[in-house]
Amino acid sequence: MNERTRFGGRVAVITGGASGIGAATARLLHAEGASLVIGDLDADAGSALVAELGVERTRFIATDVSDFDAVKALIDGAVAAFGRIDVLVNNAGIGSLSSIAALPVQEWRKVLAINLDGVFFGCKAVLPVMVAQGAGAIVNTASASGMAGDFGFAAYNAAKAGVINLTRTAAIDHARDGVRVNAVCPGPVDTPILAGIQGIPGLRSDWEDRVPLGRFASAAEIAQVIVFLASDAASYVTGVSVPVDGGLTAHTGQPN
Ligand code: NAD
Repeated sequence: MNERTRFGGRVAVITGGASGIGAATARLLHAEGASLVIGDLDADAGSALVAELGVERTRFIATDVSDFDAVKALIDGAVAAFGRIDVLVNNAGIGSLSSIAALPVQEWRKVLAINLDGVFFGCKAVLPVMVAQGAGAIVNTASASGMAGDFGFAAYNAAKAGVINLTRTAAIDHARDGVRVNAVCPGPVDTPILAGIQGIPGLRSDWEDRVPLGRFASAAEIAQVIVFLASDAASYVTGVSVPVDGGLTAHTGQPN
């Protein structure tokens, strides 16, 4: 691979890499020269992506990010396969829509376990590798929903707010180790995670009306920012959570 590509000779691990934003990030990093290890619950989709990208620089490891031992096995597997880890994208996540009173305790715990514990587990498992290398970049997929409140998203928004502050803390803890930690905060993105709420009549057009750019993002538009934060072009950027939301969080909501 041409070393002049941004990620030639580099190794990236992507959780939730079998679908949506994670798969778009995998395709972009692969095109930029990276070797990849995709960790996801969905073995069929993960294996299909490896078949698409080719086994020379891509592996899939079935992973439940809410299980620390599984995340540690993903990180160990990536080091065994490719010898180092330059980039970790903690991206796996699930949605949740319920009023607080109706939200089952088990669903609260499951959303926090995947969307927040999963990010902590990824950081905890990879940091010894990156600190020993004296270099690395972690990018967490938070959400615009971690920056403000939404109707009915208590568990999801609490988890994503946690990801934003975990990102700051991890960045501060490890800046002097050569490890940068950042996050992206997407607004609505056309991926399967929104399938459950797409059927609510009028919701999509209402949502699009509230986004200043007037539309949902594509997964590739989020991947571009993840890859930038993971790249040397962001060498002086750490501890930030970048909104990639078409202006959603820039807006007070005042009608025109
Ligand atoms: P997606 O459903 O297409 O992808 C999520 C991936 O995570 C899937 O491949 C799924 O199998 C995997 N996953 C789920 N639970 C897992 C677990 N326990 N262990 C390992 N993998 C697991 O959705 P997406 O939109 O690409 O979501 C990616 C990230 O982006 C999530 O963290 C999500 O919260 C965040 N996000 C999405 C949007 C949006 O509108 N789509 C907006 C803001 C943030």
